[in-house]
Amino acid sequence: MLLKELNRGKCKTYLLACERDRLAVLIDPVRDHIDRYLAVLAYLDLKLQAVVDTHTHADHRTACFELADLTGARVLMHRNAPAPKVDHHVADGETLALGSLTLRFLATPGHTPDGISIHVGDTVFTGDTLLIRGTGRADFPGGDAAAQYDSILEKLFTLPDHTVVLPAHDYRGNSASTIGDERRLNPRLAGQTREAYVELMASLKLPLPDRIQEVLQPNQTALDDDALNFPTLAQLNEVRQIPPRVLNELLARRPGPLVIDVREDSEFHGPLGHLPGAILIPLRSLAGRASELGGAKDAPAVVVCRSGVRSSTAAAILTSLGFEDVYNLKGGMLAWHDLGLPVEHA
Ligand code: FE
Repeated sequence: MLLKELNRGKCKTYLLACERDRLAVLIDPVRDHIDRYLAVLAYLDLKLQAVVDTHTHADHRTACFELADLTGARVLMHRNAPAPKVDHHVADGETLALGSLTLRFLATPGHTPDGISIHVGDTVFTGDTLLIRGTGRADFPGGDAAAQYDSILEKLFTLPDHTVVLPAHDYRGNSASTIGDERRLNPRLAGQTREAYVELMASLKLPLPDRIQEVLQPNQTALDDDALNFPTLAQLNEVRQIPPRVLNELLARRPGPLVIDVREDSEFHGPLGHLPGAILIPLRSLAGRASELGGAKDAPAVVVCRSGVRSSTAAAILTSLGFEDVYNLKGGMLAWHDLGLPVEHA
């Protein structure tokens, strides 16, 4: 097993490879360093099989989508990842063969809803769920400190004590720890109850990173910020949410609300299907095609995507274009699907 951290900074990207079969994965690649990654892969004579983001990042633009375009590697992320260009959504416990290595994915939400850790041999890549003597913040949109505590205690801390912990970030110059050391020495977790942890995380009141909106929405949508005029955080927070069951009841009435699906065509016709009667307008073309929705800007409209994240962006855009009664389907097609509500596939 060949393992290298490639960024030499606070934000970590790991190259993991099978030396026998010359196959590699990159974990949490950063867009600013694509040239370096391609050079290292070529120098080491490795073929990039897959790129994995342990979660949707808020502090840097991901390189996953561009690396996939350039190399043909597959993008792997958790089922809850909002972006459209994920080639395969991994489930808890799923494995991936990388030559002679076996990677096992663990669902470890909390820092974000789509957090995963990757266990391979005696090493676990913990993303921002578990850091060295710390934990990733849980106050970004979709963050959940209680879920994070459960992910760490029930998934990560049940791995053998000697397992090497490699996080996605380190702000204090550390490079590795072990599960045993973190269980005993992590000040946020050692001897802390779940309630105390949740209270501690809520008390941190950390400032938002400078570029969160310039970074987060492009990562969530796989669109460039110059391709779309992304709404501000304040505009996103004003988007009204509608739960799937409530929407299902409204759709039984005549006339029901207009349903606008902002996913890509391949997703609309993919395994999750779409809501009966939904109109497909992908997010990237929404601003230009909003006129197709007819003149009645006061008619109720519900925006839909995979997980409810891209559609929040879309709902804020429609509101800024003058649509007055716009809602977001909370949890998106994933939540709709999980409740067994009606879908069309044609
Ligand atoms: Fe993060």
